[in-house]
Amino acid sequence: MADKIVRTVLGDIVPEQLGYTSMHDHTVADMSQSGEYMQMMFSDRDPETLAFVPENYVGIKDGSYLANPELWVTGTVDDMVREFGFFKALGGQSVFDPSPVGIRGPIRDIQELSRKTGLNIVVATGFYHETTIPPEHMDQGEDHFYAVMKDEIENGIESTEVKPGAIKCAFSYLEDNELDAVHAGMRLAAETGMCIHFHTEPTTPADDLLDELEASVEKYGVNRERVVVCHMDNRICAGVVPSDYFEDESVDRTLDLELQRELLGRGYNIGLDTWGLPLLNPSFFMPDLFERTKALCLLCADGYASQITLGNDFSGKICMRAHGEWGPTAAFAFGCQRLLELGHDDWVHTLTVETPARLLAF
Ligand SMILES: [Zn+2]
Repeated sequence: MADKIVRTVLGDIVPEQLGYTSMHDHTVADMSQSGEYMQMMFSDRDPETLAFVPENYVGIKDGSYLANPELWVTGTVDDMVREFGFFKALGGQSVFDPSPVGIRGPIRDIQELSRKTGLNIVVATGFYHETTIPPEHMDQGEDHFYAVMKDEIENGIESTEVKPGAIKCAFSYLEDNELDAVHAGMRLAAETGMCIHFHTEPTTPADDLLDELEASVEKYGVNRERVVVCHMDNRICAGVVPSDYFEDESVDRTLDLELQRELLGRGYNIGLDTWGLPLLNPSFFMPDLFERTKALCLLCADGYASQITLGNDFSGKICMRAHGEWGPTAAFAFGCQRLLELGHDDWVHTLTVETPARLLAF
């Protein structure tokens, strides 16, 4: 990869400079667009139960925390300096922040975070699902999304010199705007050689996801090695229905890795990248850290360490070490630490150093 570069918020570096890298943690981000939607979803909740005070933490981790405007902004730059300091203390050197347009925080703040921490930070261009797409970009079609992303790639973000180093779109609810953005992103991935990351929801049906993904990869001629299908850890237990589990002794929280193996077998990368999301919603099973580690071990043993990305999906106060959670560290301090104890230093090096450098270089 001699002549390839990695595009950070402070300029281009060579891939070898990345070092130990988190491939999915949001830094300074702003979820107010999706927050307004979440306020509608949870409009029946007593606002007092949504206040961000320790006695409410257990209740709002069902997802309703995003209905509280105080939690729409991930935090100040100084909050992020402290939280990402815990990642640095583990040897962390670089972070890919996958926030697209509509979620990404002020780009100058992200630069300041990079300067203050010494971490290389790569940001994305792209668009998410419809609840996060700013109104001025809605219903304008693929060419509009393409033009906005291309402008950021070529001319910079928010009229600055800072350019994105990757593309981020979503396969979540498969609505028209979301898919228009996906197609625009795929076109740009094929043209630029940048890696492209896709948000997914644990509830997106596997067959629909695969069909849409394959169709767009084929149409735009994107190399599957440049595609990362994110959040493939948060669905490993989602197929087990909690009510069945409670009432039937023979129902176990068995891991289901079928979609993950299907994607890996076809040459895609998958993200096991939500280790730090403290979601506890009684309607579906989020995996715990032991189950995530087991999935990681099994897929690495299958020979897929070079196609797996790790991250925590750190996305604000609800995830902070300052508020009793893992911050941007669980994938590394829990997952990778267990692999090291089992003697798999080579897997950890591939997951944290080699694969990030391969993906972020273009
Ligand atoms: Zn994310």
